Amino acid sequence: MLFRLAGFLAFALLVLAGGIRYVTQASVEEAIRRESVDKALHYAQYMASHIRDIEGLVAGERPAQDQIETVRHIRRLGDIFRFKLFDHHGRLVLVSDDSDLQMRSHLVGAPETVPIHVMAARVPVVNVKDGREDPDRPDLFAEAYVPLISDFGDVFGVAEVYVDQTETSGYFRDSFSRFALMLSGVCALLFSAPYVAYGFQKQRAERSRKDAEFLASYDALTGLMNRREFLDRARELHTAGKLTAICYLDADKFKGINDIHGHAVGDAYLVHLAGVLRSCTHHDDLLARFGGDEFVIGFRDLDLEGVTGRVKSIIRTASQEFHEGDAVIAGSMSAGIAVVAPGDQLDDPLAHADAALYHSKSSGRNMFSVYGDHMGEDYRRRMALHSHLRQTTRDKNFSLLYQRLVDASTQKVVGYEALLRMVDEDGSEIPPSVFIPVAEELGLISEIGAWVLQTATQEIAGLDDHSLVSVNLSAAQLHGGDLPEIVASALKEAGLPPDRLELEITESLLLDDDASVAYQIDALKEMGVSLAMDDFGTGYSSLSYLWRFGFDRLKVDRSFVSGLERDPIRSRQVIETILMLGERLNMRVTAEGIETEKQARILADLGCDILQGYLFGRPAALPQGEAAPEQNERRVSGS
Ligand code: C2E
Ligand code: MG
Ligand code: MG
Repeated sequence: MLFRLAGFLAFALLVLAGGIRYVTQASVEEAIRRESVDKALHYAQYMASHIRDIEGLVAGERPAQDQIETVRHIRRLGDIFRFKLFDHHGRLVLVSDDSDLQMRSHLVGAPETVPIHVMAARVPVVNVKDGREDPDRPDLFAEAYVPLISDFGDVFGVAEVYVDQTETSGYFRDSFSRFALMLSGVCALLFSAPYVAYGFQKQRAERSRKDAEFLASYDALTGLMNRREFLDRARELHTAGKLTAICYLDADKFKGINDIHGHAVGDAYLVHLAGVLRSCTHHDDLLARFGGDEFVIGFRDLDLEGVTGRVKSIIRTASQEFHEGDAVIAGSMSAGIAVVAPGDQLDDPLAHADAALYHSKSSGRNMFSVYGDHMGEDYRRRMALHSHLRQTTRDKNFSLLYQRLVDASTQKVVGYEALLRMVDEDGSEIPPSVFIPVAEELGLISEIGAWVLQTATQEIAGLDDHSLVSVNLSAAQLHGGDLPEIVASALKEAGLPPDRLELEITESLLLDDDASVAYQIDALKEMGVSLAMDDFGTGYSSLSYLWRFGFDRLKVDRSFVSGLERDPIRSRQVIETILMLGERLNMRVTAEGIETEKQARILADLGCDILQGYLFGRPAALPQGEAAPEQNERRVSGS
């Protein structure tokens, strides 16, 4: 293809060069012709004005001495090297030759065709001639016949002027050649542009192909192998009997790092961890990122002691602080090692390493474990939870319980917090604190969250009172960008006014401060839905964060409420501070986890406007139909 294109390009340039040469030649001749006419006209005018009685001279009168002198003088003006005069019959009267002037008798000469034609047409005629054969002629000259016109407009003769154009043509030819050269250059450039572009395009395509090949086998962020490439290589190594151990590694609390510092810092942290892995292993070891913060190493020809040595150094290095811009991350890694036995299928050590990692995670993190049989049970339980959670999500086999929200001054139920419930295959309840983080990890939380929103709004709309419903959100539900639409459609389907819905976001699941999150929060608030910060006091909210997202309510974490009994002074101070902050930032305050009358009294006195806790009711099914006021009331004695 490239050769065909080059051949075509050469041919096109050849045709172009020929065309330019032809056009140049024609242009030079035309320029010379025009210039000759100009010069001849000027010369004829000069003769007419300087030769006294030129009309008489042309008519054949014998020239006077002064006329002869003038003719001699003007005979060699400028590029004119010869001229002739013809009378009004077209007969030659006078010839100026190099030697001298020759007068002819117009009576004896025969009329010539060209002068007759020029007189009839009253326009000059020019012939450009090559004089190289004739030693008396310049190399190139023009013969110009110019009609001589009297003051009365009569043509009384013709002057034939010989103009030496050798120098002029040289000048024209030089100029046109330069121009032609330039034009050829420009055209060559223009013609070769597609060729060059094609070359670039081919190079780019080649680069893209290489990139695609790289991406098919390697992780774009860290440059480590991806899962597929790792498994291929590990299988080869295992077949050759050289794979001795597999290690699974995972960054501890990576989700929190991403939520607090944003994805850019999260990505930089992953790249940093990949660097840690590289620096603590041998270049023969297989390093891969399986996704998220999950890394895997395949060790080659190394005993368990050697493997644990390298893994220990990874864990030690990863626990050092990492700085990225203003962010300081005091992270760590957990690891699980499985020894590869010769007869094993590769899947076994992979699953065992994962089980050992899980063991490290549940035993306190920032450590490694070597797989032992006892770890299999935990691992199987986790895998069973994964598949059960997936199945429950598909079947929408969850339920909601509702916990009362009570007005602190009237003790009336003003709403309910919807709390998600899921049962295990054996019918036992799995706490949300167990399955919700797993649902987040498996990417199921958005689907589950949408179900919670639809169900809670529908069930609360079935009550005839005006109670509100408070629904817990995961920060991940804001990552899809469509939360306002999901909320709007749930409200619409349930026929519930937006001011009866409150959304709770746990403080520790800080939201990314990105434009999409801010836009969705604004859209929700504009809709009339209110926003509460759950478990306040346990996370790391900054004032700007509270301010930016415009929370309407803070829910004091229940640890401060229970603390009122254990450490009354400090807990009181904390709750007072939260209330003060709420007042300043125009946020109301709920106290949750109230179990005793005493706690309820103190919190109501301090200024919490809504109270929630086992004292007022455990999470339960909603009352059917209109809630009986007496059922919904609970007096707090002494308040
Ligand atoms: P949360 O939003 O802070 O909900 C309050 C939790 O405290 C509930 O636990 C509730 O049963 C418990 N609680 C209420 N009053 C008392 C009390 O007086 N004493 C004690 N000890 N506990 C009390 P639950 O239902 O196990 O929920 C745990 C967490 O799971 C919730 O904490 C919430 O963060 C999360 N969660 C529950 N449902 C959902 C949901 O639909 N979506 C999301 N994303 N998270 C949910
Ligand atoms: Mg809550
Ligand atoms: Mg809470």
